[in-house]
Amino acid sequence: MGEAKKIRVDMHEGQLSTDLERYRQLALELGASKASIVKAEQIPVDERVQMKCQIPRCFGYGVGAQCPPNTMKAAELRELLAKYQWAVLFIKDIPAEVIVRDRATIKERVEAYQQLYSIVSEVESAAFHDGHYLAFGFAAGSCRHTFCGQLADCQAMKGDKCRFSLKSRPSMEAVGIDVYKMVALAGWDIFPIGSGDKAPNVPKGTLAGLVIVQ
Ligand code: SF4
Repeated sequence: MGEAKKIRVDMHEGQLSTDLERYRQLALELGASKASIVKAEQIPVDERVQMKCQIPRCFGYGVGAQCPPNTMKAAELRELLAKYQWAVLFIKDIPAEVIVRDRATIKERVEAYQQLYSIVSEVESAAFHDGHYLAFGFAAGSCRHTFCGQLADCQAMKGDKCRFSLKSRPSMEAVGIDVYKMVALAGWDIFPIGSGDKAPNVPKGTLAGLVIVQ
């Protein structure tokens, strides 16, 4: 992180395109496979994505503060996004044997998700300190399993402080962003992967993160 910039009423609008490119590069330096600058109005938000958390019921549904039905609804996100113009999207490709639900690769899988969350929080923090102080980001999967998987519960659900308050955040899909569509729109490859899928049938795994900058 560079030196914090003085807050300005224009939120450093003139610096925005340079900053966006820097955040794109930062995501790549931190381990993203691909990164792109996107318009906020092109982020596809769809209520049906949150419906898929419930039907069939995801193991993360209702058990963490950052997952449905406890996080913001698609309509709320849509309203928020209308106030923003630019975002940085990135993906991290991981091997098929790591993305599929196989106990043998659980350590690598959790590490990959943790790295994705780190990229989101680093890029968001860089934007914040550059004066884009309303920047916010979304990661992938569920923080309940990425950070608290070995623990009995989500502390924030009990009204206590989140154990990983600066790293934990909702996933893109948890708030209704159609990640498959957004990654495909960026021109990158992504494949549907179901709970019972086995590695030989999966070309690769893709984790996605998004930081809405200004
Ligand atoms: S990181 Fe842990 S304590 Fe924090 S919201 Fe997620 S599950 Fe709850």
